[in-house]
Amino acid sequence: MKSARDIEVKFVKGIGPSRAKLLEEELGIRTCHDLIHHFPTHYIDRSQVYPINRFTGEMPSVQVRGRFVTFNTLGEGAKMRLVGLFTDGTATMEVVWFKRIKAIKELYFTGREYIVFGKPQQFNGHWSMVHPEVDPPESAAASAGLRGVYPLTEKLRNRGISVRNIYTWIQNALAAIKHIPELLPDDIIRRYNFMGGEDAMRIVHNPPDNPSLQRARERLKFEELFYLQLNIQRFSHRRAAAMQGIPFPRIGRFFNSFYSEILPFPLTNAQKRVLKEIRADVGSGKQMNRLLQGDVGSGKTIVALMAMLMALDNGTQACLMAPTEILATQHFETLRTLAAPLGINVRLLTGSTRKKERDIIHAELESGTLHILVGTHALIEDSVRFHSLGFVVIDEQHRFGVLQRARLWKKNTKVPHVLVMTATPIPRTLAMTVYGDLDVSVIDQLPPGRKPITTLLRYDNQRMEVYRSIGRELAKGRQIYIVYPLIQENEKLDLRSLEEGYELIRDTFPSYKVAYVHGKMKPSEKDFQMRLFAEHKADILVATTVIEVGVNVPNASTMLIENAERFGLSQLHQLRGRVGRGAEQSYCVLMTKNKIAGDTRKRLELMTSTTDGFLIAEADMKMRGPGDIEGTLQSGIPFDLHIANIATDGQLVQLARDCACQILDSDPALCLPQHSMLSPELKLMFDRSFNLSRIS
Ligand code: ADP
Ligand code: MG
Repeated sequence: MKSARDIEVKFVKGIGPSRAKLLEEELGIRTCHDLIHHFPTHYIDRSQVYPINRFTGEMPSVQVRGRFVTFNTLGEGAKMRLVGLFTDGTATMEVVWFKRIKAIKELYFTGREYIVFGKPQQFNGHWSMVHPEVDPPESAAASAGLRGVYPLTEKLRNRGISVRNIYTWIQNALAAIKHIPELLPDDIIRRYNFMGGEDAMRIVHNPPDNPSLQRARERLKFEELFYLQLNIQRFSHRRAAAMQGIPFPRIGRFFNSFYSEILPFPLTNAQKRVLKEIRADVGSGKQMNRLLQGDVGSGKTIVALMAMLMALDNGTQACLMAPTEILATQHFETLRTLAAPLGINVRLLTGSTRKKERDIIHAELESGTLHILVGTHALIEDSVRFHSLGFVVIDEQHRFGVLQRARLWKKNTKVPHVLVMTATPIPRTLAMTVYGDLDVSVIDQLPPGRKPITTLLRYDNQRMEVYRSIGRELAKGRQIYIVYPLIQENEKLDLRSLEEGYELIRDTFPSYKVAYVHGKMKPSEKDFQMRLFAEHKADILVATTVIEVGVNVPNASTMLIENAERFGLSQLHQLRGRVGRGAEQSYCVLMTKNKIAGDTRKRLELMTSTTDGFLIAEADMKMRGPGDIEGTLQSGIPFDLHIANIATDGQLVQLARDCACQILDSDPALCLPQHSMLSPELKLMFDRSFNLSRIS
């Protein structure tokens, strides 16, 4: 028997070759399998008929029963439209078509009864519906209960393909397929009382009632997430089994004397907890792969250093890799100051390290007398060889991408422990998916005594007032960041607004020095400008988001973000973290044009009401979808899930992960008879795309 993947949609009743081509181009639907996995985004209740005189502005699509009184073609050329006057006895509305006018005129008649289905809109004081579905009342679809609304593209609509067509074709495909094989192991279905796969598929496209629809959707979402997790976990399990880590059995002199003699403050409880988690990992004999999440300023660096000291105590070397030269330099200075009193040899390697110093570094690395190497990408150059690399720290990992991470691994015969630090809080369910192969630690507490940053939302017409406040901060000797968005699609325009902003700032604050950076500058020029600001040779830094990562200027007390509505929430949060690093009260001003839409205002108001990065990340993910969240792009994870949603189906993500891990624990090669469907399906689902998760 042919499977759904073997039947091309052009053979489905009603589709044919030319529409099949359109479906493939527009929606990636080539086979019956693809077609039945095109799920409704929502459902509408077609059992209710609404009277026109009870329409309100907030209604979703509704169903009306009545007759057309007249049809008129109005306007000319591109503005031509067909307007049908429709009455149900309570009131009248206009039904409007802009496209396919000729065909529609031949399809519908005045005087006959129809069921019209669409979204009521108020226009010039009367109600109208644009391009609704129109059916004779006796048609089966018109009388059905819940009906799925299938996503369509503009082009498909223009070619006359309606939601109703998709619905019908899917029904035809389901009839042609006859049997849909079960893709979940029996014991999972029984344990969690999931609906069978075949029932779920038929019900989701033709729900008899709401409770069974919900069960069908839950089952299909779980299936999708389960295979996703299985795919991620199977590589990490294989690796864990194959790769022995370097055991760090002891805590020794370096760690202990640092803790008792040098550590300048008591650790927060969160920092202690994370150190314990790391300690447990590195002591276990397995190789650690851990993601450390902690908001800006939560004190990740000290945790990283203490973890590196564990490595040193066990006779191995450590390195820390940062995404930019400035950041690497800052880390280097911090670490050297803290570690030098213990006789620890720390060095810095970046693109601009001189040959002489480079040679020393290479020699010391290979002899083992260099303990901690801090640097940029230069660390993954091939000439760098460690005597015995035991611990790797990667700061702000998403700037590197997984591939570069893999290159560091190769520097050893034994794989070092890896700690990846990020200040971009990632919601748990997303972390579980994107970083499926990493364990996650969280520092969810700031060191005591920080003054929370005050965040304000201001409009263009308040600009002068904002500048006056900035002037007061400057007069106190503080420094200011001014940030402009830079969005690729419109680089020229953005660059111009940045340049104009720079001129305006120089004119407004003529007695202060203004530095200026953007992403298109040469790295050396960028570095020069950043240094001016870092060394307080400039008072104001006008910049694009290049400053987002890591620069530490405690004297900067205010950040003004222009066109704040154009940034994602997580990004705003990240930017905001550049201030509030000193003892003074600091401010973040979100500047927008005078009129912003309600949901934009809501987003920005969330920023003014909380400094909790996780809360913001959750909200951001819900609003923008997981695929847009920073750090997920290079992950290689497909976010165009068909039915599940990582942002809103958190519990199912967790359950899917648990189930996938259990199965892999009991049957790592997936060869038990009760798991026989898993491997072939995984292959069909994922082997087409290159899988990044297997590299690390
Ligand atoms: P981030 O997590 O953003 O990398 P850092 O490690 O740079 O944060 O720490 C921010 C500042 O807080 C540093 O100046 C650091 O010395 C200080 N710090 C870290 N931990 C503590 C603590 N437990 N108590 C007080 N200050 C701390
Ligand atoms: Mg940091």
